[in-house]
Amino acid sequence: MGDPADAITVRQVLQSLTGLNARSLEAALDAGLLTPVFQPVVRLSTGQVVAVEALARLADPVDGRLRPPAEFITVAEESGLVRRIDQLMLELSAPVVVRCRELLAGDPFSLGVNLSAASLTEDLPDVVADLCARAGLPANALILELTETSLSTPGRGHGAVLQALHDWGCNVTMDDFGTGFSSLSHLARFPVDGLKIDRSFTALIGTTGRGSEVAAALVGLGKALGAHVVAEGIETRTQLQALRAAGCPFGQGYLFARPLTTAALFEQLERGHHLIPLPRPRPA
Ligand code: C2E
Ligand code: MG
Ligand code: MG
Repeated sequence: MGDPADAITVRQVLQSLTGLNARSLEAALDAGLLTPVFQPVVRLSTGQVVAVEALARLADPVDGRLRPPAEFITVAEESGLVRRIDQLMLELSAPVVVRCRELLAGDPFSLGVNLSAASLTEDLPDVVADLCARAGLPANALILELTETSLSTPGRGHGAVLQALHDWGCNVTMDDFGTGFSSLSHLARFPVDGLKIDRSFTALIGTTGRGSEVAAALVGLGKALGAHVVAEGIETRTQLQALRAAGCPFGQGYLFARPLTTAALFEQLERGHHLIPLPRPRPA
């Protein structure tokens, strides 16, 4: 049996490796080091970018390296700072997406942000509506991504908060779908406008006998519920073809684009907003 003291030691070692604890994370947020990067979401039939997902990064004050969430999200969740991160991410990302919408002159373009369960407090619908109004982002251009795991966390009134956000007009999406233990009961209990199929299922395509069938079944489930379905983690053309064949409408992944800085996102959209070549028309 391990001594409980061992657990503390392991945590301290991990924190010293990343150099982050609650106090230094709070100081980093105070110093404005939180920065969003944006991964395009494309319509699989055409490659058109229809949305971006804002992903949190923490700029390293010494070398400017953008630290991924794996290095700070656990500390953020344990300390409660994740609520501040989630709201800051919306505050920082909304004006960027408003600018993208101007560049695209009327084409549909939405912003996805990730929310942890701790952010689902009673005041969240008002906070979100206020941040969007200040940036000029309409409710129907906002996607709120919640992981199944975060919905499994015992919490009071999550359903009511999600219902209020859904009624306000934004898109409530279940992230990493299929990885939680009670996915299907969540679909019945919460208003779900969208499903993001976890990249572990996309990765099965073309590698095991029934990977494509499992991915296709998840796509079918989402569509039967009338949800917007997005496949995460598309890295190969084989995966893209299988997902298209399964009727999956949307996807994101390194095949199209890695997460982009704000400047790179604007550059990309100025060059054009299709990330894969359109299929060649068949000769008549
Ligand atoms: P997520 O919301 O499922 O985001 C997708 C993750 O998959 C991102 O990792 C993205 O960079 C990565 N990814 C995208 N395409 C591919 C691909 O083709 N292959 C592979 N291998 N990976 C791909 P990232 O940015 O490290 O974020 C990890 C997780 O951290 C996110 O998973 C999300 O759960 C959480 N997170 C990120 N930003 C926030 C935030 O602002 N608030 C909260 N609460 N959580 C966040
Ligand atoms: Mg997400
Ligand atoms: Mg995900």
